[in-house]
Amino acid sequence: MKPIFLGVVLRLDKDERLGLWTRLNGAMFQPYKDTVEGVWRFVSHGQDTSDLSREDLPHLWIVGSVHGNEAVGAVVLERLMMLAHRGELIEHGELTLVLGNPAAFLADQRYIDRDLNRAFGLTSASPSNVEAVRQAKLHSLLQSRPPQFVLDLHSVSSGDHGIIVYPRESSIWAERLGCLGTHFCYSKEHMAGETLIDAAHRYGAGAMVVECGHHHSPNTPIVALAHIQKLLHYFKMTSKALIDEPLPQVSIITRYRSTKMIRPYRGFKFLFPVETGSAIEAHVPYAIDARGEHVEDQPAWLMMPSLEVKPHDQDAGWLCSLEQITQV
Ligand SMILES: [Zn+2]
Repeated sequence: MKPIFLGVVLRLDKDERLGLWTRLNGAMFQPYKDTVEGVWRFVSHGQDTSDLSREDLPHLWIVGSVHGNEAVGAVVLERLMMLAHRGELIEHGELTLVLGNPAAFLADQRYIDRDLNRAFGLTSASPSNVEAVRQAKLHSLLQSRPPQFVLDLHSVSSGDHGIIVYPRESSIWAERLGCLGTHFCYSKEHMAGETLIDAAHRYGAGAMVVECGHHHSPNTPIVALAHIQKLLHYFKMTSKALIDEPLPQVSIITRYRSTKMIRPYRGFKFLFPVETGSAIEAHVPYAIDARGEHVEDQPAWLMMPSLEVKPHDQDAGWLCSLEQITQV
């Protein structure tokens, strides 16, 4: 068993991805496999998975690699599965682990046909569209037995920002369980489709995304594990530690609130180097595409700008207002 990628650059080539996927689907984890591929269920020792009384137990989803190129989720899932298999992870309740988009993970691509994390509102699943089919399967799992909470692990392409991302309805969860000082609170009307955490909300689950840092940052597994530890402790599923040192306490949260989605067109590019938090001045063009320049009447701040916009991408980041919250 390979060790988790702690302290080294997190970059998995296609052979390493296939190796990881093969291990997750090997004999060791066979007893935990759900009928939906890429989904494993772990129940604390002594609790029968067929026992109806488990409805009363805490039940969490931890999801990784919804965007296939973002390897941190899959790497952390393997770590959690090893611990859970050895009886060293959960003492109480049930944990569902989900590798979000297996086909895109194996291909080292963000998605195959469309962004899975904007596809959860689709009502008809075209069998030829990888992500339409995948969202339907995950959606029915969420619907059939909603968990109390969904933690969705991601990483970013620009800068090395760790960011907690959530719809307005989950603000209280983010303040309670987030270990990072940068928050992105979005309005659902500023998303080009339904996200996994929006779908989780529909069924009553609390939910948030943790952007764990840059795709290849060695810190991303630590940021992910810090949040998983806090979540498991909060729901009293374990008292064990997953990381040696907790992340530093956050005293001030900088919260970006979406005011507008940046909608790209052919040839889209930013006109200067940007990253999360970059200031956009009023009346100064900040991006250009085949339809012309992007200009705002009001100053704004950028959230997760896309450095490389693909033809099927529906957003290139968001414009935001900014507020600061002192944590007590
Ligand atoms: Zn992502």
